[in-house]
Amino acid sequence: MHNYPDAASLVRALRPDEPVTLLRPHAATRAARFFVEKFPGKSLYAVKANPSPALLETLWAAGITHYDVASLGEVRLVHKFLPEAKLCFMHPVKSERAIAQAYHNHGVKTFSLDSREELNKIVRATAKDGVLATDLELCVRIRVSSDHAKLSLAAKFGAEPSEVADLLVATRQAADSLGIAFHVGSQAMTPLAYAEAMEQVRAAIVAASVTVDIVDVGGGFPSVYPGMEPPPLEAYFETIHRTFEDLPISYSAELWCEPGRAL
Ligand SMILES: *Cc1c(COP(=O)(O)O)cnc(C)c1O
Repeated sequence: MHNYPDAASLVRALRPDEPVTLLRPHAATRAARFFVEKFPGKSLYAVKANPSPALLETLWAAGITHYDVASLGEVRLVHKFLPEAKLCFMHPVKSERAIAQAYHNHGVKTFSLDSREELNKIVRATAKDGVLATDLELCVRIRVSSDHAKLSLAAKFGAEPSEVADLLVATRQAADSLGIAFHVGSQAMTPLAYAEAMEQVRAAIVAASVTVDIVDVGGGFPSVYPGMEPPPLEAYFETIHRTFEDLPISYSAELWCEPGRAL
């Protein structure tokens, strides 16, 4: 591997015709330490943002222990390079075979879902010899507004508000640990996006009156791009912490986030 002080000097030296991958391990370490030290909960790296083994190892060394995987390929990849990492299969639509392999072969116990069909799939795929799994951590992904984000995920993810309460009650019965997750969309330009989504989490908890063990605020933390200057990440963490503390959940409930591009 060669070292160049910046992208421009690489281009001058190599004049590449093919795309070149640049790794900045110090920047990744800095970003990971920032989340580990300042986010008031657990940070799950969303692997699809950049699945390179060198980056995975850098993040692990910097203290990131949980990984949000979106496919069986990512499950195998992270399990191979970081055998002790905790894998969370957070894509809300998975094949039954992928769920079964993740659970039985790779020790994955954390899954997200946003429909009754997906819940039934998870329950079937994790049973063994007709005995249901008793160690599942299941996160119900709710649909929230993407109005403050540069890239909306509202059409892609999340249970309809009218279905959330029933889905939470049904999932509670299958889960050892129950979570509520959302994603405000990528590159959310204001902490308000999280405050508004947390209000929907509150409404869902009240409507279903279930005990919630995990609140997962998803990704969307902005990076700085030319012409895009978001508020500092501390302001996001502060808003998330304050609104999390206000939720009607137990003292021992956990707070998670799933940063992708921010790491
Ligand atoms: C892509 C993705 C993320 C990360 O999103 P960023 O906006 O890059 O932080 C988190 N969670 C899920 C489920 C995703 O699909």
